[in-house]
Amino acid sequence: VRAGRICFALLILVAPLRAPSRRATATVPLEMALQQVLDQRADALRRGDRAAFLSSVDEPFAVTEAARFDSARSAGFSDYSLRLRWDLAGDLSTAALRARFAPAPAVVGQVEVRLRFDGYETKLALTTDFLTFVERDGAWKVTSDIDLDGIGLLSSRELWDLGPVSRLESPDALVLSHPDGLPRAKDVQAGIESALARERAGLDIPWRGKVVVVLPSSSAELGRLLQSTVDLTTFVAFAYWGVDRAAPDGYAITEARIILNADTFFSLSPSVREDILTHELVHVATREKAGPGMSSWLDEGLADFVATGRGTASAFSDGQIPEDWRFGAGGADAVRDAYGRSRSFVAFLAARQPGVVAYYSTLGAMVAVPGSRERLQDDAARRVFGVPLAELRAQWARSS
Ligand SMILES: [Zn+2]
Repeated sequence: VRAGRICFALLILVAPLRAPSRRATATVPLEMALQQVLDQRADALRRGDRAAFLSSVDEPFAVTEAARFDSARSAGFSDYSLRLRWDLAGDLSTAALRARFAPAPAVVGQVEVRLRFDGYETKLALTTDFLTFVERDGAWKVTSDIDLDGIGLLSSRELWDLGPVSRLESPDALVLSHPDGLPRAKDVQAGIESALARERAGLDIPWRGKVVVVLPSSSAELGRLLQSTVDLTTFVAFAYWGVDRAAPDGYAITEARIILNADTFFSLSPSVREDILTHELVHVATREKAGPGMSSWLDEGLADFVATGRGTASAFSDGQIPEDWRFGAGGADAVRDAYGRSRSFVAFLAARQPGVVAYYSTLGAMVAVPGSRERLQDDAARRVFGVPLAELRAQWARSS
């Protein structure tokens, strides 16, 4: 089974967690004190002040944090900020955790981490951490970010959390790897430049045209970065992004990046690698136009259509388009069927005026509109093509 065509966009949903605050009336000063610690940490990291950064850390955590500080500096990101979401989650500590630190007070807060890579990204990427704070001599210190792992609330891990980072820069692409991955990063950089040219030629959609690619050293490392619970050994590449629920209308897609599974990616021929990079670039390029009404059939179909053309698959006479879960489950044949159907239907839409990109953009702009995704997709079809989506599917099926 060739792994090459199996890849899907991973939506990391940064959904607000809601838990009752046990000390709702007395928490305002505490919340402010914790935010102050976070602001000092972020400021120290931005300035490269290692001592100031480590002064926010409780002693046993300092060795880990010192290494992370150095790696984060080597990654060279900018606009780094930390925001405590006490309003969403309150104190997430458990009785066992508080007993561990007693008599010192300890709390766990949900923290949003925002940053971007200057020159390559305009919007901020967003991840979530769960930080344990303990009060020592009247000052709050960060003491852990793994205390809620056991209940499935994992702090995000970025490449720089797992070791030093090498930056390989070209005008349109920044490839981040560990130093041992630098030779492979050079191959990726060459491939991504060709893929960018193919994306530009095949997709008429405005975007900034620059991308950050993350190259972990192993599948195991990839699994930790994606917080994945599925077997990643058959997956090659992912485009990934977050959804910022703190945006004014409650939905904004954050900066998208590409992450590669080095173990599978480099087992493929250079031309297949370029197809895959083109496919992922379409996901990145379309993020600005995407919205809550998108389904995988449209995202994956468009990415495959641009990367590899309309393909040999003719229309499917049953007119069925796959549900999202079919792109990641059910075995290689089923996954291939999902991609084949989607690409074929997108090719059908692309041949109709005003084209599939017009449909994609109209659907993506439907934010804060009531109704299911199917309803939004149907409304967009009526608006763009003048007929319901079911009618388009029927026409597609008859064209088989
Ligand atoms: Zn994809």
